[in-house]
Amino acid sequence: MTGQMSFESLEELFAYFHSEDRCVEEIFRRKWPHGFVCPRCNHGEAYTIRSRRLPLYECRSCRHQCSLIAGTVMEGSRTDLRKWLAAIWLISRTDEGINAVKLSVIIQVTYKTAWAMLHKLRAVMGAADAECPLEHDVRAALTYYGSEHTPLFELHPKEHPYLIAASVNPDNSPTYVKMKQVLRNHLLSDKSLLTAGRTAFVSQHVSSNTSKINIMKHHFRFRRPDVLRHIADQARSWINKTFHGLGGKYLQAYLDEYCYRYNLESQHVSIWERLAAQCLSVNTFIALAWRRRGRTIGRITHAA
Ligand SMILES: [Zn+2]
Repeated sequence: MTGQMSFESLEELFAYFHSEDRCVEEIFRRKWPHGFVCPRCNHGEAYTIRSRRLPLYECRSCRHQCSLIAGTVMEGSRTDLRKWLAAIWLISRTDEGINAVKLSVIIQVTYKTAWAMLHKLRAVMGAADAECPLEHDVRAALTYYGSEHTPLFELHPKEHPYLIAASVNPDNSPTYVKMKQVLRNHLLSDKSLLTAGRTAFVSQHVSSNTSKINIMKHHFRFRRPDVLRHIADQARSWINKTFHGLGGKYLQAYLDEYCYRYNLESQHVSIWERLAAQCLSVNTFIALAWRRRGRTIGRITHAA
């Protein structure tokens, strides 16, 4: 088969990935496109050990054993590969949001399992974003997620501040968008971003190859109509509709999820294909994201 896989519906996906063996083939092909390579000694031949749920590969030279899913988003998971592929397909959709309750019903796993799967997928998305700093002409503005009826200048505990930022074309249309939570300590003074907050954002999310950076530091100066404001409003309403409101703890993961789809869609890249490739192939940044559990990636903190 070719590298392209597109499915119009979940039924189509399940028809294609009709068995765990079919999924094993697909993952093997993506992990080792030119055949098995030992991760320890680079030897090209392995024994396949089939006594477990998923095959293990033992290097014929150094005897190192590795599992099919080591280093992929599925590492350590006992959930069926078909269910993982369904989750990747569902979170890639732009027409309908997926939450853990809905996913658990569709793929028949517990809520806890569904929640953990979605968060691992969001960690992959956040890690992919970390590889793409903003560049050239960068615009950003402070905004917040949370309750509406709050004072103009004072930050309410239920307001969760974040920077919405984009690389923009000369006509101000965004080419790449990021939303990064700003942790309060030292970076904010109520609803204003302090110089330390600006410096932290630029060092973590903006390329040195940047000619112009314009950051609106005060939420109340965010005037309509404004393209960044419009995107922030869309993200807010997607979060409210899909997750029925959120606190600040996992907000960054949801902002990353929104931006991941937004950016690929505006680049006319298949979200499902890209995410499947990033989830199924072995990527050091995925392993890294996983260890950090996605929650801390990208948030603007003082120490980083
Ligand atoms: Zn080896």
